[in-house]
Amino acid sequence: MSEGVLTQCPLLLPQDVRGRVYDGFIRAQEKDFRLRVILPTNLQLHNARLECSWQLRKVLQGYQHIVKQRLQQSADLSSFMMELKTILYPYKAPDCCADLPVAFSVSWTPQSNIQDIYNQVLSTLESLKVFWDALDEIDRKTWVLEPEKPTRSATMRRIAIGNNVSITIDVDPRHPTMFPESYFLGADHVVQPLKDKLNSNVHLWDPEVGLLQNLKDILEIDFPSRSDFDKSDFTMDCGICYAYRLDSAIPEQVCDDPHCAQPFHQACLYEWLKGLPSSRQSFNIIYGECPYCTKPITLKLLNKPF
Ligand SMILES: [Zn+2]
Ligand SMILES: [Zn+2]
Repeated sequence: MSEGVLTQCPLLLPQDVRGRVYDGFIRAQEKDFRLRVILPTNLQLHNARLECSWQLRKVLQGYQHIVKQRLQQSADLSSFMMELKTILYPYKAPDCCADLPVAFSVSWTPQSNIQDIYNQVLSTLESLKVFWDALDEIDRKTWVLEPEKPTRSATMRRIAIGNNVSITIDVDPRHPTMFPESYFLGADHVVQPLKDKLNSNVHLWDPEVGLLQNLKDILEIDFPSRSDFDKSDFTMDCGICYAYRLDSAIPEQVCDDPHCAQPFHQACLYEWLKGLPSSRQSFNIIYGECPYCTKPITLKLLNKPF
């Protein structure tokens, strides 16, 4: 028996010929912990007494019942020492990554197993059901311009309202029935009435009613759906680069003149206005002329460097 113990813990040495008392150190967590194992006269392991240094006691705090259990179950001292080392080296939680809109971290103890992780994932999924149901309904019944293919972690949706007008909502996954953060994109003359509606109706928001229905009620609109319209009815290409997508951006800057309403990518319009001698910049706003109708156009620079 002592040979096996020696393999497990080379610093734990038998103090007598019979191998009743072992004294020395157990190495764990890059430290040596003082330990004394005293077996009863019949050498029965489950009645063994452990004398631990205070440092070792501290490390084993909370695991006493497991130590006791392992003492009962281990076949001999050397296999017990192996178990003890395992307790001292709590297995690290496996790395988990999940496509969720909330941070997911596993709560893990040395006794945890894959089933526990599975259960934790299940309860997290359950807690997100209302959030996903609300966004699924939006994806199904409206025209979502962005993201093109929403992942399960995406909390943001940009929903078409009409030609070059959209609302962007960012839904709190923990409070999906509350009014989401939102803003409009589009020409002022179209956006302003929507903002007014939102401001005057926001008190009508009813957490009992679905997200989509609330948005409809408050904005007093019906969202056009993908099946009713053609993509070309909504997505007008940028008037400068003639493309719809530029990297991932879509033309979100629209000429405020109702007769023009030409959309542009921010980056394209920025480059265009920068090259015009008549443009001027004040803080983060550039004033210039629309490349199409030459009416005044303003470009608010968001904090993206182009
Ligand atoms: Zn462009
Ligand atoms: Zn214009």
